[in-house]
Amino acid sequence: MFTPREVAAAAAARPPTTLTINELHRRLGHVAHEAARKLMKDGLVRGVKLDESSVASICESCEWAKGTRKPIQKVRQRERASEIGEEVHSDLWGPAPVETASTQERDLRGLQEV
Ligand SMILES: [Zn+2]
Repeated sequence: MFTPREVAAAAAARPPTTLTINELHRRLGHVAHEAARKLMKDGLVRGVKLDESSVASICESCEWAKGTRKPIQKVRQRERASEIGEEVHSDLWGPAPVETASTQERDLRGLQEV
Protein backbone atom coordinates (compact mmCIF):
# COMPACT_ATOMS: atom_id res chain seq x y z
CA MET A 1 0.00 0.00 0.00
CA PHE A 2 1.34 3.40 -0.96
CA THR A 3 0.55 6.72 0.62
CA PRO A 4 -0.86 9.49 -1.58
CA ARG A 5 2.47 11.32 -1.16
CA GLU A 6 4.39 8.27 -2.47
CA VAL A 7 2.03 7.93 -5.42
CA ALA A 8 2.43 11.66 -6.23
CA ALA A 9 6.23 11.40 -5.95
CA ALA A 10 6.30 8.39 -8.28
CA ALA A 11 4.09 10.19 -10.79
CA ALA A 12 6.29 13.31 -10.65
CA ALA A 13 9.41 11.22 -11.31
CA ARG A 14 8.06 9.86 -14.59
CA PRO A 15 8.50 11.82 -17.82
CA PRO A 16 5.30 13.63 -18.82
CA THR A 17 2.96 11.80 -21.14
CA THR A 18 2.02 13.61 -24.34
CA LEU A 19 -1.71 13.66 -24.93
CA THR A 20 -3.85 14.85 -27.80
CA ILE A 21 -6.50 17.44 -26.99
CA ASN A 22 -9.15 14.71 -27.21
CA GLU A 23 -7.30 12.48 -24.73
CA LEU A 24 -6.86 15.43 -22.38
CA HIS A 25 -10.57 16.28 -22.74
CA ARG A 26 -11.49 12.73 -21.63
CA ARG A 27 -8.96 12.56 -18.80
CA LEU A 28 -10.19 15.85 -17.36
CA GLY A 29 -13.74 14.58 -17.15
CA HIS A 30 -14.96 15.84 -20.52
CA VAL A 31 -14.34 19.53 -19.88
CA ALA A 32 -14.59 21.77 -22.93
CA HIS A 33 -11.61 21.40 -25.25
CA GLU A 34 -10.74 25.07 -24.98
CA ALA A 35 -10.95 24.89 -21.18
CA ALA A 36 -8.52 21.93 -21.26
CA ARG A 37 -6.13 23.96 -23.44
CA LYS A 38 -6.34 26.90 -21.03
CA LEU A 39 -5.62 24.64 -18.03
CA MET A 40 -2.49 23.41 -19.81
CA LYS A 41 -1.49 26.94 -20.85
CA ASP A 42 -1.91 28.19 -17.27
CA GLY A 43 0.23 25.33 -15.94
CA LEU A 44 -2.59 23.85 -13.88
CA VAL A 45 -2.13 20.28 -15.17
CA ARG A 46 1.01 18.44 -14.20
CA GLY A 47 2.50 15.23 -15.55
CA VAL A 48 1.22 15.58 -19.10
CA LYS A 49 2.14 17.54 -22.20
CA LEU A 50 -0.34 18.64 -24.80
CA ASP A 51 0.25 17.80 -28.43
CA GLU A 52 -0.37 21.34 -29.67
CA SER A 53 -0.89 20.11 -33.21
CA SER A 54 -3.79 17.87 -32.21
CA VAL A 55 -7.23 18.95 -33.35
CA ALA A 56 -10.38 18.67 -31.26
CA SER A 57 -13.04 16.40 -32.63
CA ILE A 58 -16.61 15.71 -31.62
CA CYS A 59 -16.71 13.53 -28.50
CA GLU A 60 -19.34 10.80 -28.85
CA SER A 61 -19.81 10.59 -25.07
CA CYS A 62 -20.49 14.32 -24.79
CA GLU A 63 -22.87 14.21 -27.74
CA TRP A 64 -24.73 11.26 -26.22
CA ALA A 65 -24.92 12.98 -22.84
CA LYS A 66 -26.49 16.07 -24.36
CA GLY A 67 -29.40 13.92 -25.49
CA THR A 68 -32.29 15.34 -27.40
CA ARG A 69 -35.28 17.28 -26.32
CA LYS A 70 -38.01 19.15 -28.00
CA PRO A 71 -38.05 22.92 -27.76
CA ILE A 72 -40.39 24.42 -25.22
CA GLN A 73 -42.89 26.76 -26.78
CA LYS A 74 -42.55 30.37 -25.73
CA VAL A 75 -46.23 31.09 -26.14
CA ARG A 76 -48.80 29.49 -23.85
CA GLN A 77 -51.47 27.53 -25.75
CA ARG A 78 -54.17 27.72 -23.10
CA GLU A 79 -54.90 29.27 -19.73
CA ARG A 80 -52.56 28.56 -16.84
CA ALA A 81 -53.84 26.01 -14.31
CA SER A 82 -55.69 27.60 -11.43
CA GLU A 83 -55.73 24.66 -8.99
CA ILE A 84 -53.17 22.18 -7.75
CA GLY A 85 -53.30 19.03 -9.86
CA GLU A 86 -55.29 20.63 -12.69
CA GLU A 87 -52.34 20.25 -15.05
CA VAL A 88 -49.30 18.03 -14.59
CA HIS A 89 -46.29 17.82 -16.89
CA SER A 90 -44.26 14.63 -16.81
CA ASP A 91 -41.41 12.91 -18.54
CA LEU A 92 -40.71 9.18 -18.69
CA TRP A 93 -37.10 8.14 -19.08
CA GLY A 94 -35.80 4.65 -19.71
CA PRO A 95 -35.03 1.88 -19.89
CA ALA A 96 -31.99 2.40 -17.68
CA PRO A 97 -28.83 0.59 -18.77
CA VAL A 98 -28.27 -0.50 -15.15
CA GLU A 99 -30.94 -1.76 -12.77
CA THR A 100 -31.37 0.03 -9.48
CA ALA A 101 -31.56 -1.81 -6.15
CA SER A 102 -35.33 -1.76 -6.46
CA THR A 103 -35.02 -2.97 -10.09
CA GLN A 104 -36.85 0.04 -11.50
CA GLU A 105 -36.03 0.50 -15.13
CA ARG A 106 -37.76 3.78 -15.70
CA ASP A 107 -37.88 7.12 -13.99
CA LEU A 108 -40.96 9.29 -13.94
CA ARG A 109 -40.41 12.93 -13.25
CA GLY A 110 -43.26 15.29 -12.82
CA LEU A 111 -43.78 18.99 -12.52
CA GLN A 112 -47.07 20.29 -11.31
CA GLU A 113 -48.14 23.62 -12.67
CA VAL A 114 -49.64 26.18 -10.34
ZN1 LIG B 1 -16.46 14.36 -24.06
